[in-house]
Amino acid sequence: AASHGGNHFRFFVHALNERVRDRLSLSTDLVQALEHDRFELYFQPQVAADDGELTGVEVLLRLRHPTQGLISPGDFIPVAEETGLIVPLGAWVIRDACRQLRLWQALDVGTLSINLSPLQLQDPQLFEIIMQALDVNQIVPALIEFEITENALMRNSISTLNQLNRLKQLGVRLSIDDFGTGYSNLSYLKQFPVDRLKIDQAFVRGVPTDSNDVAIVDAILAVARALGLSTLAEGVETQAQADFLRARRCDEFQGYLYSRPLPANEFEAWLHTRRLI
Ligand code: C2E
Ligand code: CA
Ligand code: CA
Ligand code: CA
Repeated sequence: AASHGGNHFRFFVHALNERVRDRLSLSTDLVQALEHDRFELYFQPQVAADDGELTGVEVLLRLRHPTQGLISPGDFIPVAEETGLIVPLGAWVIRDACRQLRLWQALDVGTLSINLSPLQLQDPQLFEIIMQALDVNQIVPALIEFEITENALMRNSISTLNQLNRLKQLGVRLSIDDFGTGYSNLSYLKQFPVDRLKIDQAFVRGVPTDSNDVAIVDAILAVARALGLSTLAEGVETQAQADFLRARRCDEFQGYLYSRPLPANEFEAWLHTRRLI
């Protein structure tokens, strides 16, 4: 039994080292990727619940790794957050997304939603970075939305609040991402100048059959209505989910039922085909 335990321990240490090594090499890869322009933006449509018209696009980051192919943000954002690289990387996302929106000026794609990390909200240069990206690309602030997770709002709330108020005064829109998964005290909603709630896909997944998810979604929609916030359901995959959410008067949908996140040229093709029909 002792030797078994010893092996187990050695295995554990080995696995741990491997993880640490993986993270270190990933963090070096990320710095190089930013230098060599290996990040790419994907775009996922957001549509109106009532008529299915395009209302906006969420920008989602991907890494084109030289040997490992396309890597999802779930695999590298945590490392970029730990190392602080998310700050320059997030600035690149803002600039490149605005550059793309300028190219799409004639296409009428609606609001461009950009994810902001909590670390970016604590960056004193964030406001300048945004102003400059808007200015260079001649974009009206109302066409940009920043998505901030509930947990980011709870962190460091005074400076976060100041930053958000400045952004709000600039005229950009603000939404709370993954709503319902974070802090459960809703009183903070009154404090922050947000425009909409994005209902997390964890709850959307269960409707209309799971009664707990139905209750949670109903509660979120009621809170949003009471506070005058619009609502978007994330991760809508089935017609049954869309029908349920439409009946409950959720405003907008995003999910595989409409489209997966797509590279810019494929997004244009999606939009073109859809508007021909
Ligand atoms: P998120 O902001 O909640 O983005 C939605 C995620 O759900 C995306 O995953 C999207 O591809 C996925 N998704 C969309 N529709 C469906 C659906 O119908 N079913 C399912 N199962 N999934 C769906 P993705 O692109 O892998 O991004 C994961 C997370 O990485 C994002 O979650 C966001 O938190 C983070 N992220 C992505 N891009 C950025 C970025 O530029 N900056 C920062 N700070 N975070 C980012
Ligand atoms: Ca998001
Ligand atoms: Ca989300
Ligand atoms: Ca999420």
